[in-house]
Amino acid sequence: MSDFPSRIAYATACGIVDGVAAAGELPSERCALQRAHGRVLAADVHAVLQQPPFDNSAMDGFALRHADLDGDGGTAFELAGEQFAGTTLGLRIGPGQCTRITTGAPLPAGADTVVMKENTVVDGDRVRVQEMPAPGQHVRRAGEDSAVGDRLLQAGDVLSPSRVALCASQGLAELDVRRRPTVAVFTTGDELVEPGLPLRPGEIYNSNREQLMGLLRAEGLEPVAWPTLPDDPGAIESALRHAGNAFDLVVTCGGVSAGEKDHVPALLQAQGRVRFWKVRMKPGMPVLLAEGGRLGDALFLCLPGNPVSVLATWLTLGRRLLDGLQGRREPRLRLHARLGTEWHKRHERLEFLRGRLHCGDDGVLRIEPNPADGSHRMRAAADSDALIMLPEGPRAYPAGSVVEVLPY
Ligand code: AMP
Ligand code: MG
Repeated sequence: MSDFPSRIAYATACGIVDGVAAAGELPSERCALQRAHGRVLAADVHAVLQQPPFDNSAMDGFALRHADLDGDGGTAFELAGEQFAGTTLGLRIGPGQCTRITTGAPLPAGADTVVMKENTVVDGDRVRVQEMPAPGQHVRRAGEDSAVGDRLLQAGDVLSPSRVALCASQGLAELDVRRRPTVAVFTTGDELVEPGLPLRPGEIYNSNREQLMGLLRAEGLEPVAWPTLPDDPGAIESALRHAGNAFDLVVTCGGVSAGEKDHVPALLQAQGRVRFWKVRMKPGMPVLLAEGGRLGDALFLCLPGNPVSVLATWLTLGRRLLDGLQGRREPRLRLHARLGTEWHKRHERLEFLRGRLHCGDDGVLRIEPNPADGSHRMRAAADSDALIMLPEGPRAYPAGSVVEVLPY
């Protein structure tokens, strides 16, 4: 039997996940801009254009020279042309002249200020300015947002819609991103039946598959669900070997504890390389991470079968593995909230409760823990929208204590 850490602290497990992920970082690929949303950048992005590319108007109105304005307002200008967005007409204005201009249109030569249409009265080719603008008002200066060569984004950044838009504004049609891992999802257990089929006594419906598929899809992955595996060592080995040679990541759930029918740990100990088994967290303690070894190149993340354990282990260790594999540089946002009700842990282990977030009258985030804290109580998880992280050690949490929360 191989040697691996067991019953480790959550922080130790996180460190091992990071190391395994770094060793298995996925290669980069070119990706069409349109498909880059949510991906992790594999290379820095530098500006090839200055932004804005030319001085232009921030308003619909009239472009003029500020020096020609009379301080008391009411100055009349001669309308010398029209400059709309999308063309450069090479217009130039002289003393006392103005041009009509629209938002985004290049500023005519000589002009330095734009007066909003709403602050003018037009009479034929005379434009009277009714309100004195500040010099340079409503002009967007060339290069004020970025200069050629500026580093706009860094390798490891997640491509939010704003970042994809930033790349689009630079004219980039393709980006270097990390390949997304391919993921196989297995549920295991003789008792499981698919929704829509009749149940016999002792059987339950498979709820974890959909939970896992949803959690994985929420990360932008396209997981492949395999038929549920019976609690049979031969069937489990054959399916996991198949997937281990075809996917980057194999996520299993169930059969990973110490029961008579829990065959996953023995298989991975014999055929793979277990990196840890059992983390001091509740729920989710039996979680196991392994490299495939003789089962293939895939990583194996084996989650316990209780539905709330699946949620807690995926949101913490699973997503961390995923982020590391994709070279994500930015840590996930960490949120804290005040406990709405006091809570007493029955043990010292790190605990992830379920709770509902809301904003208190003082504008501070509050979380109401759900008292149904059993790891089988899916209803409480469904009634909630965040995990509450109560660290290893202290057991008493008075109302108002500040706790870390993980929205889901
Ligand atoms: P296990 O980790 O296999 O010992 O399972 C722990 C508990 O989770 C048992 O009550 C199982 O019946 C339940 N369970 C395991 N897999 C699933 C699943 N896919 N959907 C719903 N419940 C499950
Ligand atoms: Mg089972």
